[in-house]
Amino acid sequence: MMGTISATTQAIELEEKYGAHNYHPLPVVLSKGEGVFVWDVEGKRYYDFLSAYSAVNQGHCHPKIINALIAQAQKLTLTSRAFYNERLGECEKFITEYFGYDKVLMMNSGAEAVETAIKLARKWGYTVKNIPSNQALIVAVEKNFHGRTTGVIAASTDPDSTKDFGPFNPGFQIIPYSDTTALESALKNPNVCAFLVEPIQGEAGVYVPTEGYLKKAEELCKKYNVLFIIDEIQTGIGRTGKLLASQYEDVKADILILGKAISGGTYPVSAVLADDPIMLTIKPGQHGSTFGGNPMACAVAQASLEVIRDEKLTENAAKMGELFRKRMTDLQGKSGHVLAVRGKGLLNAIVIKPTNDGRTAWDVCVALKDNGLLAKPTHGDIIRFAPPLVINEAQLNECCDIIEKTILEF
Ligand SMILES: *Cc1c(COP(=O)(O)O)cnc(C)c1O
Repeated sequence: MMGTISATTQAIELEEKYGAHNYHPLPVVLSKGEGVFVWDVEGKRYYDFLSAYSAVNQGHCHPKIINALIAQAQKLTLTSRAFYNERLGECEKFITEYFGYDKVLMMNSGAEAVETAIKLARKWGYTVKNIPSNQALIVAVEKNFHGRTTGVIAASTDPDSTKDFGPFNPGFQIIPYSDTTALESALKNPNVCAFLVEPIQGEAGVYVPTEGYLKKAEELCKKYNVLFIIDEIQTGIGRTGKLLASQYEDVKADILILGKAISGGTYPVSAVLADDPIMLTIKPGQHGSTFGGNPMACAVAQASLEVIRDEKLTENAAKMGELFRKRMTDLQGKSGHVLAVRGKGLLNAIVIKPTNDGRTAWDVCVALKDNGLLAKPTHGDIIRFAPPLVINEAQLNECCDIIEKTILEF
């Protein structure tokens, strides 16, 4: 009909007009999700190959997680930490046993958990390592992504994250990723309290470090009495085919940071894990969050981790990931537009060679959308592929067919 605005156009126009322009979404408006699928407002079904940046590992609207959320919402939602509540201790016991640490500190967003890890490492640096007051340094790496707060972007090397957002907090030293020589020379400084790193750099474009990097980093941190902080917000909770990506090298963080899929994408939950000699350096009143560790978060996190374990989603991610990379490597042999395939488990990326007339990874993603699969380009020419871990082999093959057809037509 003439003059009728589609539901898609209308929703996009509303966001454009009334929302801040801090994202550049693909032109699709979603209204429903179930398992590996999402539906747009016109009723079209898509495979979700982003999983909300790996928050929805358990699949959209997993009934067990949603039921836990509803049951808790009808009973008690928030007490603050001024009082004890019946859910928190049980959840803390569950999470610490699940990941093998003495203690957990729950927050809400990933960036807040990173902030918490930074504060914890500094507190330990002054009270245990005896670093002179206000001199503590945290070593981080180039192209890191740890979130968007002013504290965290002080460690960023991405101009989009930092330009015109200064001044930045001091106390970070940046070295190249996957470079143990640079790491050793940095850690020799006695004022270093921690080394902060992602086991695979997700946001940067799924960069997998050289094999042995994390093991060597762990050794160096021990040698120089520096805390090893591993940010597994994107790589953790089964995504890479292990419960934690650091387990590929049998490495254990002194401070482990989790977020995203710890709630199956239903509620903002993040967590920092450490053993007593580190975690107990923060005393009552020195750190906190009104919503951190609230009863809803506890119910949802526990259900989400149970789903990962009971449905063997980590094992499935490992198996489906092998198949996916094999299909993409085959495609690389057939198409001149796939420059690289990389990743672990179901956290993968391909690098796209733009066409001579200037079409890029963005155009590939728009074509993928038209063909029924949602993925998002990152840093220009990289497409990340990260479906929910509940995907089965038939679905995965269908998705590889869609990707293959789209790229061969590109
Ligand atoms: C997403 C992400 C964060 C930030 O999490 P938010 O919940 O968006 O604040 C931090 N670190 C890594 C590795 C991430 O992928």
